[in-house]
Amino acid sequence: MKITDNNNICGYCNTADDGEFCFETQSIYGNKYEIRKCAHCKAYYLSPHPDEDVLKKAYDVSYYGFQKNKFGEGIIEKAIDYLRYLKAKRINKYLKHQSTILDIGCGNGKFLGYMNKLGKHNIYGIEPGEISYKRASKIENINIKKGYLDENDFGDNFFDAIFLFHVFEHLDNPEIMLDVIGKILKPNAILVFSFPNIISWQAKFFKGKWLHLDPPRHLFFFPPEVFVSLMKSKGYMPVKIKYMCIEQNPYAAIQSILNIICKKREVLYEYFKGNKEYVKDISRISILLQKIFFVLSFPFFIITDFLASLFHASASVEFIFKKNNFPNSID
Ligand SMILES: [Zn+2]
Repeated sequence: MKITDNNNICGYCNTADDGEFCFETQSIYGNKYEIRKCAHCKAYYLSPHPDEDVLKKAYDVSYYGFQKNKFGEGIIEKAIDYLRYLKAKRINKYLKHQSTILDIGCGNGKFLGYMNKLGKHNIYGIEPGEISYKRASKIENINIKKGYLDENDFGDNFFDAIFLFHVFEHLDNPEIMLDVIGKILKPNAILVFSFPNIISWQAKFFKGKWLHLDPPRHLFFFPPEVFVSLMKSKGYMPVKIKYMCIEQNPYAAIQSILNIICKKREVLYEYFKGNKEYVKDISRISILLQKIFFVLSFPFFIITDFLASLFHASASVEFIFKKNNFPNSID
């Protein structure tokens, strides 16, 4: 955790200058926060910075799902898994056969499993969550570490690719993490990020009720253009920026609408994860109606995501960067 007396600090660069107030939000535990914009690094950040106890609770068993998979064994998990396979196929095109690849926050490890099948890669995963770590450990040929990326885990110029899918915005020391990643990536390696788009149509419309704010877990949010500038300054060039995302964006619109209607946020999402405790005070008829709304409106929100993507205004964004070709030894 950051050592500071002032919790009103930017979640990315630690600057404590109050920032520009954007809107208020509330966590599923009822804690109130503000989203502010940092004058120094231009990131939007959650303020006050959540304390250690709050974050510990936010990453307990309920975050990872109570079931065999995060969303059980039904059609939702199967659909997510198929989209995961398509993502692996898409990203594998940027890699040579038998590359050495690392997924930071690899979740259940299935993305790495697909990458292994597609390219016979040497697969490494890092995952802090106990349940996800156990799920990922079952993936064939995986080298997995439970916890966080440490400076001494790997030698310099080790990886051909590193992935952070919806992980970066959770990090408590993102600048240190980027420095470590810069060392362990080979020249010309690729670095893939995805994260919520804070200047998306959804973010602007739903504000504090937006699913992807996910307070208190998401600590900072970069507008895509600001992030590209930051990465260029660190020696990376964008190769591909993708906005449309069926596994992230249509559901985010649906859940954000439900967050406006319902007294509690993320009810349907927590229900799908099997969080019985969180939804115990919600009637069965309410859950049923929310499920019907989800099924009926999903195709509509695929169309709105497509439209938003044309304006670079989708609810999440994926970047593929290529590292410059200078070896780390001359940094
Ligand atoms: Zn900042």
